Amino acid sequence: MKTKAQKTKLAFKKLMTADVVNLGVERPENFTYKTGQFAEFLFLDPKNPKKKTKRAYSICSVSNDKNIEFLIKLVPNGAGSDYIRKLNEGNTVEISGPYGHFILEDKEEPLVFIATGVGVAPIIGLLRESLNNLGYKKDVRLLFGLRGEEDIFLVDHLDELKEKHSNFDYVLTLSRPSDKWTGTKGRVTDYLSKYIDKKAHYYICGNIDMASDTKKTLEDSGIKEENIHFEAF
Ligand SMILES: Cc1cc2nc3c(=O)[nH]c(=O)nc-3n(C[C@H](O)[C@H](O)[C@H](O)COP(=O)(O)OP(=O)(O)OC[C@H]3O[C@@H](n4cnc5c(N)ncnc54)[C@H](O)[C@@H]3O)c2cc1C
Repeated sequence: MKTKAQKTKLAFKKLMTADVVNLGVERPENFTYKTGQFAEFLFLDPKNPKKKTKRAYSICSVSNDKNIEFLIKLVPNGAGSDYIRKLNEGNTVEISGPYGHFILEDKEEPLVFIATGVGVAPIIGLLRESLNNLGYKKDVRLLFGLRGEEDIFLVDHLDELKEKHSNFDYVLTLSRPSDKWTGTKGRVTDYLSKYIDKKAHYYICGNIDMASDTKKTLEDSGIKEENIHFEAF
């Protein structure tokens, strides 16, 4: 149910890489959401401190988790990024939502998730929802793109999911790895052809160029538009 802006507390703040943080806020009692949706944080506008401004962040927790969690990339001189840099556990935060339609379909189909960077935020929720909560038995795949080794996060969690669910597998590919990297290299779009399945539902989340290129490649490969779910930021 959509709620107007309400105040809650920052439950935790954890650094995942040099510029990605995992935030958890206490879930207000009347804030219910579907896994994959996003919320907005409201805070004083640094350009006009008499006014509030807001930033959208995808929820990476699942709807029955105690806290509402986010994975946020801190960009240089970003208003939202600077606000989040200064937040400490126990601080009051103001959020509104939930918003968005990046949610699972009612019917179980094979799932292919494609994410770059913090675009994995809503997708990690959808993975946990489909595998742990709904007990999906059809194939669930994740193609996850990051830049270099220093940007790697969440793989422990993905490995745990893989160990627990034989129908889940993922590939992490680095677009700019060091010479020492022996894993998969290149962009997620380089590997899409291996994941074409006309029955599957595709969930794409990441920067706009990757998301648009991926959507186009899938459509050119005969995937129906209604099977492609798209979030870009
Ligand atoms: C539906 C939706 C869901 C979103 N979910 C998430 C999420 O889960 N996690 C998340 O981190 N963000 C998410 N975003 C993006 C987020 O809302 C902000 O736009 C982003 O964090 C930058 O905000 P900022 O206030 O720090 O920077 P701004 O003050 O908006 O921008 C400051 C400067 O940073 C530059 N900049 C902005 N974004 C980037 C970037 N990614 N890399 C480098 N430079 C940049 C701008 O060009 C500008 O020069 C989402 C956006 C939408 C619309």
